[in-house]
Amino acid sequence: MGVLSVINFTGEYHLMIGTYSINYLSNKIKILAKQNVKKFFLVPTSEQDLSKSKVLINEYSEEIETEIIIVDNLVTVSDLLMKLGREEVNSIIDRVWINLPSKITGNSTLKYEEVKKAIFEKCHKNRIPISSLHDSENSKFHLIPTIKNEKTGIELGISTNKNGCIIGTKLLKEIELRFWKNNHIDEFVENIVGLRNALKQLKSQDDNINDDLWYQIGLIAQDEEGWDSSKFNEFVKEEFIKNNTQKFESASRWLAQMIQYYPLKTLKTVTLKDLFQNDSNDMTESLSLMSENKEVLAEETSLNHVLQKITEKLQTQREEKNSKEKNTIKLVGSGPGSLSMLTLQAIEAITSADLILADKLIPEEILSIIPDNKQLYIAKKFPGNADSAQQQLFNKCQEGLSLGLNIVRLKQGDPYVFGRGGEEFIQLNDYITENKLNSRVEVIPGLSSALVAPLVADIPMTMRNISNEILIMTGTGTGGNLNTYPEYKEERTSIFLMGLHRVEILVDNLVNEKKWNDETAVCIVERAACEDQRVTRTKLKHLVEVVGVIGSRPPGLIVMGPAVNALIPDNGELYTVKEGI
Ligand code: SAH
Repeated sequence: MGVLSVINFTGEYHLMIGTYSINYLSNKIKILAKQNVKKFFLVPTSEQDLSKSKVLINEYSEEIETEIIIVDNLVTVSDLLMKLGREEVNSIIDRVWINLPSKITGNSTLKYEEVKKAIFEKCHKNRIPISSLHDSENSKFHLIPTIKNEKTGIELGISTNKNGCIIGTKLLKEIELRFWKNNHIDEFVENIVGLRNALKQLKSQDDNINDDLWYQIGLIAQDEEGWDSSKFNEFVKEEFIKNNTQKFESASRWLAQMIQYYPLKTLKTVTLKDLFQNDSNDMTESLSLMSENKEVLAEETSLNHVLQKITEKLQTQREEKNSKEKNTIKLVGSGPGSLSMLTLQAIEAITSADLILADKLIPEEILSIIPDNKQLYIAKKFPGNADSAQQQLFNKCQEGLSLGLNIVRLKQGDPYVFGRGGEEFIQLNDYITENKLNSRVEVIPGLSSALVAPLVADIPMTMRNISNEILIMTGTGTGGNLNTYPEYKEERTSIFLMGLHRVEILVDNLVNEKKWNDETAVCIVERAACEDQRVTRTKLKHLVEVVGVIGSRPPGLIVMGPAVNALIPDNGELYTVKEGI
């Protein structure tokens, strides 16, 4: 095993002992010459090899600056290693390549094995890095196949750590074809490296700029692995950019941010102007570009096209998972009840399940997408029998699990927001463990009504100077008891789920016990995001009366706080109702 690293060969003197593989020799000469190795000593193994090597070297001598010297007089290994090197390193050679037959090539004899071992040991003792052709035992390092862009220096190498023979080259070819070329990696890197170098040029012209910022944001990062990214997103005070130094710093930060966050596609086209311009996009320019590409865009942006792409991806993920996974029972959040708010993960779970267990509260719209060949079971739940409904569902889960089915337990909103998701997770997990079943519980998030309902009712839950916190509570605590509510606070948005059927005691508790301001704006949001959504605004002091007048359209929740009127001011009426989405 080993680590991949980048070694600087500049100015070094290398020695190659043996000329067994002319291919290896020619390959190394090419690579080392590019890496600015200064001298290359070659010890041919036979008369025949000597002439072959001479021909080869003649071929290269015009093109490369590395001096190639053939050592054909008799010298000892010690002399080769200790006398040919650079003066500054006491004449010790910098690196040794062994090009002799090996066990793998089938031509090795005991003689060669002994020679190699002796050279290796001598190098090892003197700390000279050595690489032997097809012979890891007698090597301290070896070069690996790479793809490289000479302009930018970007290089990708693959090592199988001695396990793969030529798999590395094969993989590289695949990566080059499928990823590198498809994503125009060269273009994107060239653009970014070009921008960075242009900025570097500017940097060298301004004495006020120091390297600290560039280190911080990663524009100088030789050791990418060791880059301390903790300061990357450090808070920058928004102030007017005055002088050139500040302009430069802002452009540098922008480049670093783009590298981190932008897709490759976009990085290909960023310009220096974009980095310096405050308003980075000239809209008319990009609009005209878009109209040129209209036909391509129409195809790429059609909803069907995008959905198809997503479906394909999900399908592959599912197949990959299926091949190695146990059966699953998934607690799936189905959002507030509208198809548009179902997540792709939820759709994927529904379509791949054998058995679907749902609450009575899951609306028809959602149930309508369940394919006919799936078993669907809806728990018989009515006010007061929540516990027994839970038990019914659990029994069904047990049955399904013992039959080895993939089960989806469809839940309203998000499973972990007042949805008994935590309890069900433990219960199911315990059951699986106790019965040693080959299944696993998975939880899939959903859009919670607590967060969706305020938004669809035009209530920004947090807004500077109006509300800086959100409190999500239930009007019905465990065993049907009222919860303990906090004292009143002005700059807060309070959301009560499961509270509409008992507003009387809720309001009494808040106003009389907890001293909530009864002028507080209140909004009742029912069937949020569904077609028959209803939004009713009033004040805390009128809430009971208003609920009496409008009746109920479950499920619904109550939002309280000044944010209720942040976008839609109070018009002085007892209440206002807005129907539909
Ligand atoms: N897990 C769910 C909440 C379950 S408790 C979620 O995250 O949304 C059930 C309560 O959620 C209902 O009593 C009601 O207060 C609220 N609720 C669920 N769907 C709703 C909707 N579409 N509109 C308004 N309130 C809803």
